[in-house]
Amino acid sequence: MRRRLLGFLDERFGIPEAAFDGFLLLGSRRSWFLLQRSAVIAGAVRLKIEQAGLKAFQQVGAFVKPTTRLIQLFGHLATRARVVVEREALARLVAGEWIPVDLPAGQGYLILECAEGGILGLGFLKDGLLRTQLPKKELRVGMFDRGAMMRPDRASFIRFFSMPSTRRDNMLKDGEKGAILQRDKETYAIAPHMPCGVVTPETLRKLADAAEKFNCAALKVTSAARIAMVGIKEEDIDKVWAELGMAPGAAVGLCVRSVKVCPGTTFCKLAQQDSLAVGMKLDEIYHGMEFPSKTKMGVSGCNNQCAENCIKDVSLVGKKSGWTLMVGGCGTGKPRLADVLEEGLSTEDALKRIDKVLTYYRANANKGERIGKMVDRIGFDAFRSAVMG
Ligand code: SF4
Repeated sequence: MRRRLLGFLDERFGIPEAAFDGFLLLGSRRSWFLLQRSAVIAGAVRLKIEQAGLKAFQQVGAFVKPTTRLIQLFGHLATRARVVVEREALARLVAGEWIPVDLPAGQGYLILECAEGGILGLGFLKDGLLRTQLPKKELRVGMFDRGAMMRPDRASFIRFFSMPSTRRDNMLKDGEKGAILQRDKETYAIAPHMPCGVVTPETLRKLADAAEKFNCAALKVTSAARIAMVGIKEEDIDKVWAELGMAPGAAVGLCVRSVKVCPGTTFCKLAQQDSLAVGMKLDEIYHGMEFPSKTKMGVSGCNNQCAENCIKDVSLVGKKSGWTLMVGGCGTGKPRLADVLEEGLSTEDALKRIDKVLTYYRANANKGERIGKMVDRIGFDAFRSAVMG
C-alpha cells in the first residue's frame, strides 16, 4: 500500500517517494498515517497511531485521497499538477464555484498554491473546471482570517511530526522517580524536599551545579517553598537525584504535599511562637503521608499569617496565649477560608489535636474530598464535637 499511495503522489504531482524515506506509513481503519521513524519508532507498537501520526491519506468511497495536511506539508515538492490561485479566484472557489483553468493536467487532483505564498491544499479538475477540495472548516475560518489569505504554517506541521501529541505509554507517570512531565511532553521537573523551605548554601550549590551539568531549562521557586529543577531529560533523572543526594518533595498525589512555615521567633521580630520548630515537626510526621485528598499545612508565628493559614487544610497561628488551630482552608478555583477549631493550645496539645483531626479525616472523608469540603458536608459543629473529644 505504501508504494501505491506514495507512487500516486509521484505520478500525479511529481512529489518523489524519497521525500517520505524518514516516515512510516501506517494504516488504521480507512486512513493512513505518517509517523516519523526516528522520533517514536521505539514506542510505535504501543501508540495510538491516530493520535501520534499525521493523517496522510483517507479512503473516500472507492478512492484513496491525500489529506490537506499532507499536501500543505509536501506540496512544495510537486513539479506538476500545481495551480497558482489569485485572491479573486480563491474567493470564488471558497464560495463553492467551479472556475475555469487552462492546464494540461487533465482530470484529477491539483495542488492549489496561494498567489501570496504557501500551499493551500487540493483542488479537483474536471472538464477544464476547478473546484476546491479544502475542508469546509478551513474554508470558513482560515482562508480570510482578518482579510488576509491563509498561509499554511509548515513549521507547525514539522513540529507536529517531531513531537507526538500523546504521551508514550512507557513515559514516567507523574510522581514516579519524583518527576513530573512538563508541557513539552518530553522533559521532566523534579522538586527536592526542602522541609519548611529552609535550605543551606551547600544545598543551593548542589542544585546549581546539577542544573548546569544536566542543562536544566530553569530553576523555579515553587509555592511549596521548594526549588524545582525544570527541563530534565528522562535519562538524566536518576543521575540528577544521585548528584543531589536529596529526597523528592511530595508534589503530586493524595498526601500531605507541603508544610508552609514563616520564620517565626527564629528570625521575625513580630513572632509570638516558634513556627519553624513546630513546622519542622509537622513536616517530619506528615510530609508525604497519604490521605483522602491532597493536604496542605501551614504554621505562622503571629496573626499576620504569612504562611497563608486561611487557605491551608490544617494550620497553626502563633499568639501570646499559644497556638490557634485552623482547619478546612483551600485555595483552589473555589477557595474556602479555614475555620478556627481551637485556641490557646500548647505545642504538645496542638500536635495531638492535629492528629485527631487527620485521623478523623482519613476515616470519614470521601476520596478526593479536602478537609473543608468534608466539614461542609457533615457540618462544622458535628465535625468539632467528633474531634474535640
Ligand atoms: S506570620 Fe508573623 S511571625 Fe511569621 S513572618 Fe509573618 S509577621 Fe513574622
